[in-house]
Amino acid sequence: MKRDKDGAEAGAPDVPAGSPSPQQDGEDLRDISVLVADRDPGVTAHIAAQLRERGAHPVGQAVDEAEFLQALRSRPDAWHVALWHEGLEPDPVLRQGLLQTWQREFPATATVLTTDTLNASSALLALRGGAVDIVRRHASGDELASVVRRACDTHRTRRAPAGHTEAPRLLVVGAHPDDCEIGAGGIIHRRVRDGWQVSMLAMSHGSWGGEPGQRAHEAQEAAASLGAASFHLEDFPDGHITDETETVQAIERVVHEVDPDVVLVHSVRDTHQDHRAVHRATLVAARRVPRVGCYQSPSATADFTPNRFIGLREEDVEAKLAAIARHASQATTRPYLDVGLIRATARYWGRFTNDKFAEPLEIMRYTAEIERSLV
Ligand SMILES: [Zn+2]
Repeated sequence: MKRDKDGAEAGAPDVPAGSPSPQQDGEDLRDISVLVADRDPGVTAHIAAQLRERGAHPVGQAVDEAEFLQALRSRPDAWHVALWHEGLEPDPVLRQGLLQTWQREFPATATVLTTDTLNASSALLALRGGAVDIVRRHASGDELASVVRRACDTHRTRRAPAGHTEAPRLLVVGAHPDDCEIGAGGIIHRRVRDGWQVSMLAMSHGSWGGEPGQRAHEAQEAAASLGAASFHLEDFPDGHITDETETVQAIERVVHEVDPDVVLVHSVRDTHQDHRAVHRATLVAARRVPRVGCYQSPSATADFTPNRFIGLREEDVEAKLAAIARHASQATTRPYLDVGLIRATARYWGRFTNDKFAEPLEIMRYTAEIERSLV
């Protein structure tokens, strides 16, 4: 791989081949523990010696899969990096399965495949299977060390956001002050309960449906009642929101600030022009967000086609109703905010889950990331 080549070149400037000065030129592997597995005991010992010379400690050795697993299982959190020769499992499909199993069983360890011939397809297969990197087994000590150091760092950063230390972030976007609660109030409450960080964005003050100041205040209170971490309010003209640059940029600013893993917005299958415009603008603004889904507004059309259902508990539905009730200027005048209708709708969608209630989503984009929770 290119990175290996670059690393090796950078690691050995102006030093004649074979010059024994690994500490200065190679990677310092102090505090990194490595398990080396290769069918050939000579190769295993050689790689292990190269890594020890550069400070790795401890360095374990295994010559078959049983020994390898025994070493991992005896100290499951102790190995930072495992160098494993692909010849230990010649079948690529089975090998990929093994890599995935280890990833689940030994999440603390970064697996690096060693290979005899490095090519694009073997590299791709290794990385798809969950290996952090792939390197030639006969690479120089410096190159091996550089790969081990990098694998250790990469694995650490990859695990940090996915390692249950950082809460997933959800951004819900609506055209009017009460849209997020009506379409996804149950999901918002459930995700807050799950430990997610939820932000809400309303694109207008909803002056068409009431006094703007009061509506803004109500929306603020409703967001807080659901446990949202932040509430953002824009001032686009109610009834005349477009999907043009200005709208896209306003949403982009919030996307940039929140850095969400998931964005929810209106469906495009909706009779309200503001909802459709905000849907389109959000898809553009959230183009780099890994997951985007659309919730159901009361104005959604009959062809709203959900393909994901988020199960809710009674308490989530109650919280949703309480949040909607905070929009006092609307709750008593809008027939679609009828408590019975909202409960019945959530109950109906619940039939697609194992829960009593649910809210439906049309998934626009769904990028899988290891260990990340679902929408
Ligand atoms: Zn609306």
